[in-house]
Amino acid sequence: MRIGFVGLGNMGGPMCRRFLESGFEVSVYDVNPEALSSLGDTAAEPADNLKALATFADVVLLSLPDSDVVERAVLGDGGLADGLSSGKVLIDTSSSRPSSTRTIAGRLAGEGIEMLDAPISGGVLRAEEGKLAVMVGGKREVFERYYEVFQAFGEKIFHVGDHGAGHLVKSLNNLLSARTLASAAEAVILARKAGIAPETLLEVLNAGNGRSYSTEVKFPRFILNRAFDDGFALDLMAKDLKLALETAAEMDHPKFSGAAVAQLWQAAAAQGYGPEGHASIYAFLENLSGEVDHTQ
Ligand code: NAD
Repeated sequence: MRIGFVGLGNMGGPMCRRFLESGFEVSVYDVNPEALSSLGDTAAEPADNLKALATFADVVLLSLPDSDVVERAVLGDGGLADGLSSGKVLIDTSSSRPSSTRTIAGRLAGEGIEMLDAPISGGVLRAEEGKLAVMVGGKREVFERYYEVFQAFGEKIFHVGDHGAGHLVKSLNNLLSARTLASAAEAVILARKAGIAPETLLEVLNAGNGRSYSTEVKFPRFILNRAFDDGFALDLMAKDLKLALETAAEMDHPKFSGAAVAQLWQAAAAQGYGPEGHASIYAFLENLSGEVDHTQ
């Protein structure tokens, strides 16, 4: 099975390495030459353009920033659709808009090309270990046929429904993840104001039911050292929250608390934190509270 991989950023780079390490033949494409050079020591074959990559590959995987980029890469002039043909499959691992995914899947189906949405969770750390959670939308028989593709980068792999279901589940996952990180940040900032060391509070939370992936992993790895270098841009998290709310609105479904969380992250992006790692929501909340840590 020949793999074409488009988008070799924070997630796509390590995921693509997993395919190479598993012995797949891999062709790669990224608009940024620096992203391509990160695979320089491997057998990855750079493609001249998207059409050439799609012509070479049996399976084309995407790891791109958002649905606008995905739509242009697939359906735009000289895009992947020009090189894909009946019997091939397109797998979008990006966190994309469910309605856009359904549109692309419908257009490709007309040409006999299958599509699966297969967004991922676990961040750069688990991408490097090949231990991502993968939530797949699309036909079950296609999911089963390409299961070994998901095993190259995933540890827990789920079929969650038809086209777009994977992308909806991903946006809901991140809505909860964004909420726990922001709530934990507010708790740590308040505790510090009250004279309780952040390390002490986190130790207690992690021994109790207040714990989360944020308190167990993100705080010690990316926040207490104030590096905020988690490899997931705050802008991308804000995008995911917007997607969750958009889908809720399309379905006339109320999302009171989700709206507040999304607005908080949107405000952080508006204040210029967007290109920083998403853990910098902590620095944003610190500034809002007037409790900036001037000691570091
Ligand atoms: P990133 O910005 O690091 O990587 C995106 C890559 O796409 C870049 O290398 C960029 O040059 C490339 N690109 C952009 N436009 C392109 C085009 N038209 N053609 C080819 N390449 C193009 O982003 P990331 O953090 O790797 O995230 C990728 C996707 O995965 C996003 O949808 C994100 O929301 C999702 N995601 C990220 C994480 C994370 O922890 N970083 C975790 C889960 C899901």
